[in-house]
Amino acid sequence: VVYLDYQATTPVDQRVLDAMLPFLTQQYANPSSPHQPGRRAASALRAARRQVKTSLGAEHDTEIVFTSGATEANHLAILGTATASPRPDADHIITTPIEHQSVLATCDHLSRAGYSVTTVPVDHHGRVNPADVAVAITPHTVLVSVMYANNEIGTIQPIADIAAITRRHNVLLHTDAAQAIGALDIDVNRLGVDLLTISAHKIYGPKGIGALYIRRGTPLRPQYAGSQEHGFRAGTINLPGTIALAEALRILATEREHETPRIAQLRDSLADRLLAALPHAHINGSPEHRLPGNLSLTIPGIDAADLIDALPDLAISNGSACASGHAKPSHVLAAIGLPDSDARATIRLSLGRETRESDIEHAAHRIGSSVATTPPPG
Ligand code: PMP
Repeated sequence: VVYLDYQATTPVDQRVLDAMLPFLTQQYANPSSPHQPGRRAASALRAARRQVKTSLGAEHDTEIVFTSGATEANHLAILGTATASPRPDADHIITTPIEHQSVLATCDHLSRAGYSVTTVPVDHHGRVNPADVAVAITPHTVLVSVMYANNEIGTIQPIADIAAITRRHNVLLHTDAAQAIGALDIDVNRLGVDLLTISAHKIYGPKGIGALYIRRGTPLRPQYAGSQEHGFRAGTINLPGTIALAEALRILATEREHETPRIAQLRDSLADRLLAALPHAHINGSPEHRLPGNLSLTIPGIDAADLIDALPDLAISNGSACASGHAKPSHVLAAIGLPDSDARATIRLSLGRETRESDIEHAAHRIGSSVATTPPPG
């Protein structure tokens, strides 16, 4: 099977596995334990935290809180800040219509609890206009949450420009960088964000571990009490996971620079081949501000779910993995103005570390010929 679904998840890099394995089988002590093995585990946890801190350009180890993934990090960022503000009238949150479900569902939860939520629009490329964020801010606004890069259409947002605005108004800024971290060199201070979400399984680490960067001094209420993670997140830490996340980030720092252009070039070659075979198809997302490994393609007249079924030798996606399987067409494609019929005719191909030219050739050939031989509906 040719795997072109790296935005849903990635394989664990062998080097990441090698780094984490000893912490499953040999150095398994709880870092909170008082004995020697416990202290060694605590020291390994400190080193992992320092690596994550360095990779994100953060200043203090205590600004990194490990979580079970990006979903939990997003929940903690939004619920934690919304409920921690010392001002009782701080009850307004700003977000976008193309966020991951974990952000949208959390905002929805807060809105049912009496908060007001403003959704700033995106243009037909899925880009937020920072001026729209400025207009939406009121004296009640606590938090702006805008994802760094989108999981379906790959669009990258002008986070630094949005941060300049939130800072001016003394409003917190959170960004979900789960998709961005694999492709972009992220520095929380250059970006100017207060909170930033990452997840290991999008960057060749295991599922079930992620982190939230919380700028020192940001008011944030833990969602359940406990002493771990500087009081921000209770429960025995997933030490092997933290080691894996740190190693995945360390590898990215050395390989991202040459991987990004390689993957972008393969993606462009895949797009060229598909558009040559299917001249009526079109690409979604921003032509210039897009993740290198993302290709969201609408092939009018097809049913994406049927096409995926017809191609058992390809692992591709319709919409995002989280959204597919639902009858509802993608909220991201709707927000950029695609009618339902086009949203249902959209596939997402995402490339990664193991993708080679031969994979691209195979996928383009199979998709091109499968669509050409499928009789039109009706
Ligand atoms: N945010 C974005 C942008 C994502 O793409 C994903 C994964 N689909 C998540 C959050 C959730 O990440 P996790 O699986 O680590 O909870």
